[in-house]
Amino acid sequence: MPQTHQLDWQRPFQLQDLPTDGKQFHPNRDEAETEFKALRTEFVALQERLYAEDKQKLLIVLQAMDAGGKDGTIRNVLKGVNPQGVRVQSFKAPSKEELAHDFLWRIHKVVPTRGMIGVFNRSHYEDVLVVRVHNLVPESVWRPRYTQINQFEKLLHDSGTRVLKFYLHISAAEQKERFQARLDDPEKHWKFSLEDLEKRKFWPDYMAAYEEMLRECSTEWAPWYVIPANQKWYRNLAIMRTIVHTLRDMNPQFPEAEDNFDGVVIE
Ligand code: AMP
Ligand code: MG
Repeated sequence: MPQTHQLDWQRPFQLQDLPTDGKQFHPNRDEAETEFKALRTEFVALQERLYAEDKQKLLIVLQAMDAGGKDGTIRNVLKGVNPQGVRVQSFKAPSKEELAHDFLWRIHKVVPTRGMIGVFNRSHYEDVLVVRVHNLVPESVWRPRYTQINQFEKLLHDSGTRVLKFYLHISAAEQKERFQARLDDPEKHWKFSLEDLEKRKFWPDYMAAYEEMLRECSTEWAPWYVIPANQKWYRNLAIMRTIVHTLRDMNPQFPEAEDNFDGVVIE
């Protein structure tokens, strides 16, 4: 099994020591792209079986700093998959109604149902990240959320959902380059906001929040993967490898036909 970047949370780690550069894991971009495409073909076939089987569920959580590559990952990884079997859900700042409930209410409503793959573009983890860094609620509210999240994910797991969580790890320098590209190209302006620059000033605080989140919420039933994400082609491959590996392990099967088709002739 190639390098998966699954976090070994029992070992002490610092996020700044975990690689953002994928080149050291795969020196050859062409080969990486070839492998990625082959795996994507397998993903499409496995997804069809998952959907037909209509029993198990897969939840993929994507978290990253702004410009970290969540949208690009979704575009590349899900290309060619039957849209009927996938639900992509983005989480923005909560509405008034959402804020009037507990933080998991809006999340739980949209977890994947039987046979489905759910992809979260941001997630319940924002409630221990942006919320913490910008003091949107006091520590007495956000700190217990680590345990609440772990229990919630255990419930999903025990109800037949495999949970994969990817943190797309880019360097501050790479974010700067990607912001600059968005600034320079009018067709990319829609992806950019001054608020993104505001958040960039809090980079060390975000890293501290991510670090604690990774430490507290890496569980056997819902592991975190810290993906070196400075190179998009490596990021795509690393994530695809883990998804396909997981689906192979889930091993979904086409169900038996409900009727006996022996001797059936279509007139
Ligand atoms: P984007 O992903 O660029 O569309 O931005 C969505 C914004 O919503 C980001 O700035 C997030 O930090 C913010 N957001 C998502 N979830 C929450 C949350 N639970 N509380 C506050 N802000 C959030
Ligand atoms: Mg944004």
